[in-house]
Amino acid sequence: MDAATASLRAATDGRATAASNPYDPAYDPLVSATPGQGRDYAPTYWIGTAGEPPADDGPIRHDIDVDVAIIGSGFTGLTTAIFLAQEYGIKATVLEANRSAWGCSVRNGGQAQCASGRLKRSQWIARYGMEAALGLHRECLDGMENFKALIKDIDCDPQPGGHLYVAHRARVMPILEKEARLLRDVFKYDARILNADTVRREWVGDEEACGAMHEPEGIGIHAGKLAFGYLKKARALGATVHPASPVQGWETRNGVHYLKTPGGTVRARAVGICTGGYTSNSLHPQLKNRLLPILSNSIVTRPLTAQEIEACGLRTHQVITDTRVLRHYYRLMPDNRLQIGSRSAITGNDAPQKQYEQRLIEDMWRKFPALRGVQIDYSWWGWVDVSHDMMPRIHQPDPKESVYYALGYGGNGVMYSAQAGRRLAQWIAGKGSELHLPIFTSKLPFPNVREMVVSEAFAPFRRFGQRFLYRWYAYNDERP
Ligand SMILES: Cc1cc2nc3c(=O)[nH]c(=O)nc-3n(C[C@H](O)[C@H](O)[C@H](O)COP(=O)(O)OP(=O)(O)OC[C@H]3O[C@@H](n4cnc5c(N)ncnc54)[C@H](O)[C@@H]3O)c2cc1C
Repeated sequence: MDAATASLRAATDGRATAASNPYDPAYDPLVSATPGQGRDYAPTYWIGTAGEPPADDGPIRHDIDVDVAIIGSGFTGLTTAIFLAQEYGIKATVLEANRSAWGCSVRNGGQAQCASGRLKRSQWIARYGMEAALGLHRECLDGMENFKALIKDIDCDPQPGGHLYVAHRARVMPILEKEARLLRDVFKYDARILNADTVRREWVGDEEACGAMHEPEGIGIHAGKLAFGYLKKARALGATVHPASPVQGWETRNGVHYLKTPGGTVRARAVGICTGGYTSNSLHPQLKNRLLPILSNSIVTRPLTAQEIEACGLRTHQVITDTRVLRHYYRLMPDNRLQIGSRSAITGNDAPQKQYEQRLIEDMWRKFPALRGVQIDYSWWGWVDVSHDMMPRIHQPDPKESVYYALGYGGNGVMYSAQAGRRLAQWIAGKGSELHLPIFTSKLPFPNVREMVVSEAFAPFRRFGQRFLYRWYAYNDERP
């Protein structure tokens, strides 16, 4: 350990920094300037069962000079720090507003899927052309291998085997069949179509299932154990991780970034932004109105009895989603609880209202009537970083500035955040010119093509649009 790292570490006694503020259930990134300071974790199943958070390096307590600062200590920030150290010998300084890995990374469904963003392979072809689509597919497969290698020595309860994509209405089956053919014929990816009988007999007794597509890649993980494993790995490689250190101001002078935190200013030669759905509009001008944070909520039942598991036909531990645009993601956990999640409220203020949890519970009952009345042990929500074209970006938005970001996975970041961390490290280490796919070569887009007009004048009204879209999606999803 070098002297600088040793002095940063001296601030702690080898334990995790305790929360200095309570969890704020109504936090909203479009309203608050930062996600707080030293706030406690959301009450998730992952935090409840991951054990003690590992040691960190304590809050920033004085001004410091560093080569690379990473803002945000979720999966993306921590894996960026891992790859910077492992591949390029760069020991990053990770700044986190709250407790380590506090955001989405300890609130998700733990479904590592072979995806990057929300678009399907057929949509990649339509948008980017065949060559780029094939490149994106290779990037996802490479990302899966990267993820498997990373979690090999992290005890995060992996549930491998693939991903079951359940048709929630019969009318969706022809679309799934077409996509599966494309996956097999063009992408050489072994997607299989299963009829409703097979799904219910061999996989899951979801009452809505009208068939499914099974894809070979997909792993369920324990999100808290994974985040804590990344944290330990990053620190073992020499990175420092500083909770309770929100970046509250940012100036750049003569190529140096002055990141103001409550305990001191971090002067950095390069900055990686890994703030996910918790990115505030004021963090950096390059990000203003470039993301639409969307709430997703999740519940976990008490452990189910053998009879309940049989009644629900829960025969697989593989990860499952349904084909709604406002999709459900669910699985049987290693300890026989059922986890299920879906969209939630639109604003942070509304998120704690019981109606959103109740709607999700009723969705679960509709799929699994045998679970009517079963006790819910955990219920939480979090902000997903959705980009305006449903695809992420790992990018340097201004070639003259040493600022880089990895954002916008749109609810598909459990696996891809690790690959994004690897790519972001590549950018920061000066190897960005090796990256050619559209997600590396373009900025996060504004909601519309007329960039300035739309971003400045209409962005505050995006949530009206979201309300309208949710109604439309719900109507479309639920029609027979
Ligand atoms: C309920 C839910 C379910 C999901 N389910 C799945 C799933 O099953 N599969 C899947 O692939 N994806 C899922 N996702 C998405 C997935 O969790 C994310 O894509 C992934 O965790 C993103 O990690 P991240 O590191 O980019 O962001 P985060 O984990 O959100 O980390 C960002 C961090 O930045 C910090 N930060 C923000 N601003 C500042 C600042 N100014 N200064 C310092 N720190 C700051 C925040 O405090 C936060 O800790 C889900 C998300 C949610 C909310």
